[in-house]
Amino acid sequence: MTTTTKVDHLIIGAGFAGLCTAIKLDEAGEGDFVVIEKDTEVGGTWHANTYPGAACDVPSHLYSFSFALNPDWTSHYSPQPEIKAYVDKVAAESGVLDRVVLDTAVQDATWDEDQQRWIVTTVSTSGETTTYAARTVVSGSGGLSEPRMPDIDGIDGFRGEIFHSARWNHDVDLTGKRVAVIGTGASAIQIVPELQKIVAHLDVYQRTPNWIIPRNEHRYTEGQKALFRKVPLAQRAYRAFIYASLEARAPAFTRFPALQVATERMVRGNIAKGIEDDPELVAKVTPDYRAGCKRILISNRWYPALAADHVDLLTGGIASITETGIVDKEGNHREVDAIVVATGFYVTEPPIAQHVTGRDGRTLADIWDVAGMAAYKGTTINGFPNLFQLVGPNTALGHSSMIFIIESQVRYVVEALKAMRRDGHATIEPSAQAQASWTARIRERMKPTVWQTGGCASWYLDRFGHNTTLWPGQTFTFRQHLARFDVDRYDVTPTTEREAVSA
Ligand code: NAP
Repeated sequence: MTTTTKVDHLIIGAGFAGLCTAIKLDEAGEGDFVVIEKDTEVGGTWHANTYPGAACDVPSHLYSFSFALNPDWTSHYSPQPEIKAYVDKVAAESGVLDRVVLDTAVQDATWDEDQQRWIVTTVSTSGETTTYAARTVVSGSGGLSEPRMPDIDGIDGFRGEIFHSARWNHDVDLTGKRVAVIGTGASAIQIVPELQKIVAHLDVYQRTPNWIIPRNEHRYTEGQKALFRKVPLAQRAYRAFIYASLEARAPAFTRFPALQVATERMVRGNIAKGIEDDPELVAKVTPDYRAGCKRILISNRWYPALAADHVDLLTGGIASITETGIVDKEGNHREVDAIVVATGFYVTEPPIAQHVTGRDGRTLADIWDVAGMAAYKGTTINGFPNLFQLVGPNTALGHSSMIFIIESQVRYVVEALKAMRRDGHATIEPSAQAQASWTARIRERMKPTVWQTGGCASWYLDRFGHNTTLWPGQTFTFRQHLARFDVDRYDVTPTTEREAVSA
């Protein structure tokens, strides 16, 4: 017999978003929750991405929780192991780990109208199935969690080692090997300089060049760390300074793309510094679209790595993969021992959407397939009562820290739960009209942005050409929009006496 465990809240994912939710719900007295995490440890993206060179391109003093500042960051941009250690420490000290279920994936979440609960089935890696009945579900499943393998003819028949950047196979030693990297995005530009140091030969397959600015890398001195430790206000001020300087860049993305000329000039300087006497390579790496249209990347080591004698940048496109190598569109076959696939993630069609079924029996994927991802304030969705999607549609950033967005959303969740308890709402769900007008507003606001006008194809855009990924404004306006729970924009149902007793 299957037993069903009743919980108030079920949180999907134990990355930054899921852990933040757990911690803040606990603080708000909403401690009856379970966190379902598919991986073996907490950390989300910072647990999964362990490729060589993995690091964050947002300064660590901002890319961290406002309620758990870390005076001990070693460098401006921290490497993955340090961020993972930070998440582990915050999780351990928060007291929520007792409610985190690891090694377990959400298989299905279906709204049950009679019970007014989400019936969530999970399955552990050992095959054990558990069912929960939860009043609310908060999904922190991550925007960049499901690797996207490219649909290249023959890819499954390659006999050497092949793996995605987010599933790095540390059992494979690439030292002295002939290696190909497919993709030149944020992950690849960190991987390639590391591989270039150890491999015999590296083929880098570029489809579109990126604008890559210099990385303002520096390590914090012991004195600076001591200051941050002893004078927390100094650290707060430093964090605010970083926040403000990144925020100052927003208008060049959202309103005045012509301002990106300054970035383009900076990148041309970065290219000239990294690649000497090779005009052909310079031409290959210089983008022909406006900077910012795709995510602006940061590296001091990418261009010099490409300029190395044993590295080839191949731009002719991939026709197929054979058992032993890669064939380009001109028919040239290049043998390799291993292929690293750095082709990104499912962003505009998140796989979690296929597993969440709403009030009328349709999944989120069914609904989003028709016209693209949409949610009220990027967080709640008509037809899906008591569901909160963190890092939902139009919440991602091209210029600042996602932790700021996550904390804004989690505050909104907490405010919503407080309102539900206070005012006796069993369910809350944004009205269709509220969601439609929010989406229309976002679309309108998106029109002048560099993401729509910059002349590139990017994963920010869905198959309808809409940018359903990014927030088209300053981050503080996002926070203002979510500062209070606006119940007047929601359809609500009252808690009946029977429900209150059975809770
Ligand atoms: P990505 O930015 O989506 O880049 C994927 C790369 O693969 C692009 O160069 C793309 O080319 C190429 N590609 C995709 N399909 C291909 C195919 N079939 N054939 C050839 N090339 C193909 O993915 P990512 O580099 O993993 O980064 C994803 C996001 O993760 C980043 O934008 C960022 O938000 C995040 N990230 C952050 C950091 C950090 O430091 N904070 C580090 C890594 C990743 P096109 O450009 O032509 O599509």
